[in-house]
Amino acid sequence: MPQPKSVAIIGAGIGGIATAIKLAKNGFDVTVYEKNPAPGGRVSQTIREGHRFDLGASIFLMPEIYRDTFASLDIKLDEFMEFLPVTTLYQLYFDDGSVLDFTKDEKKMEAQLEAIEPGSYRMMKAYLDKGYGFLQLGLSKLLGRNFYHLFDFVNLANVGLLIKLKAYLRHQTFVTRYFRHPHLQMAFTFQNIYVGQSPYEAPALFSMLPAAELLEGSMFPKGGMNRIVSKLVEYAERLGVKFVCNKPAARILTDNRRATGILFEDGSRIAADILVANADLPYVYSDLLPDKRPAARINKLNHACSAIVFHWGIDKLYPGLAQHNVFLSDRYRQCLDTIFKDKSLSEDFCFYIHSPVRTDSTAAPEGQDSLSVVIPVGHLDTSKDQNWIRILSMARAGVISRLKKLGLEDLEDHIKFEICYLPGTWESMFHVSRGATFGSLGHNIMQMGYFRPHNRHNRYGNLYFTGGSTHPGNGIPLVLLSAKLTSERILKEQVSVSPVE
Ligand SMILES: Cc1cc2nc3c(=O)[nH]c(=O)nc-3n(C[C@H](O)[C@H](O)[C@H](O)COP(=O)(O)OP(=O)(O)OC[C@H]3O[C@@H](n4cnc5c(N)ncnc54)[C@H](O)[C@@H]3O)c2cc1C
Repeated sequence: MPQPKSVAIIGAGIGGIATAIKLAKNGFDVTVYEKNPAPGGRVSQTIREGHRFDLGASIFLMPEIYRDTFASLDIKLDEFMEFLPVTTLYQLYFDDGSVLDFTKDEKKMEAQLEAIEPGSYRMMKAYLDKGYGFLQLGLSKLLGRNFYHLFDFVNLANVGLLIKLKAYLRHQTFVTRYFRHPHLQMAFTFQNIYVGQSPYEAPALFSMLPAAELLEGSMFPKGGMNRIVSKLVEYAERLGVKFVCNKPAARILTDNRRATGILFEDGSRIAADILVANADLPYVYSDLLPDKRPAARINKLNHACSAIVFHWGIDKLYPGLAQHNVFLSDRYRQCLDTIFKDKSLSEDFCFYIHSPVRTDSTAAPEGQDSLSVVIPVGHLDTSKDQNWIRILSMARAGVISRLKKLGLEDLEDHIKFEICYLPGTWESMFHVSRGATFGSLGHNIMQMGYFRPHNRHNRYGNLYFTGGSTHPGNGIPLVLLSAKLTSERILKEQVSVSPVE
């Protein structure tokens, strides 16, 4: 009997784990090498004094993509793990003290929207309809398929597609066709930041994000987002996948037009028939591969924004906060331009707070709270004068002062401990290029589809990529899609038998 082909995956992020599962199911001998002590990457978690924090992802976006991609791994998502319902998708807080409960409850939305701008509920329906149409079309023609050749992407049909997806129009311009009130414009565009982009620069097709949220709704995995990782790892191990943690790769070994194996930082080496890099793609090109020219080209690409994150263990519960809270600034444009153009943080910045105990009481000791505060900031840029100590203290003071206005006057006295992530932490901990943790590569139209760095290396035909910086993009749902597409490509190119369904 022939030996199964060996696959070595660098990185146990969501992309690496999902790829490992699909390949193991198809008879490959898969080993995943991870630099950190545990799998998960940007969906890792930490627990301190009974407080549990998801280090990165906290919103279960686009459940239908999870269902479809899990189904391709023979997993029925809703039976695989326990989910808790999330009724208020977010609470949005504006500078004038007003609050918008962003919810699937249509009656509640209608009352709130009509109070802000008469006629806006009908316009919201039209906006969501259009956005959801973008999602469906985008999934079938742009995000959910592999592009093997330039002409798969650049052809007459796709010119029509890009027009239908309003790729030529900025998201912020698009939203003004539906809402005049600035609070509504903000409420239906800020989701762009999930993929590290400004709505003033992103194409209109990203209206698919609020549309998917309001039409598909949301839920939360009991035990936190990292539960998705632990369940997938258990499943992968049952299929024979081996995970080797604390094993940073130092170099991908190559021989002419093939990748032959991995040299690790501890000096050991392994050989493999196929390599998959789940570590962030620009980092893999610049640090693990020998060819400097493609690395330099990729390094010049537009990068997403980064984030400062505070995880606070709080010894009391503050009523009033929802599970997902978004604080928006009336100086929205300035706030976004400071992040994306100046690569810094403005004084009146926007931020997000995750408080999972509202849905999942296991996230903190009884009567206490675990808050994660995410503040989008510019990515690391050596051409800018970035004083991270100053930016950090401004960010902390700004959040505390904003929360005081909301009635959390004594918050500082109740922070038992603080864990803080800066752009440099994302870079050193997970090797995310420029610490641009919502990417790392940006998602403008010239960096999507065939134009995004490909999921197979041009020179080394057995070296593949999966994760946020290859096709189709970042955010867990797209990374799951990336794993699906990369696995399909490997099955198409590296085996002659048809894949197991
Ligand atoms: C603050 C924050 C909030 C977010 N919020 C959301 C959200 O609410 N919803 C959502 O869907 N998404 C969210 N995201 C995005 C989401 O977390 C990412 O899209 C996703 O986790 C990326 O997965 P990945 O597999 O591409 O990469 P990663 O998770 O980065 O995995 C890559 C892995 O490779 C490992 N690695 C790197 N170099 C090496 C090496 N040399 N050797 C071995 N291993 C290596 C890394 O340690 C890491 O484990 C958020 C991200 C952040 C940071």
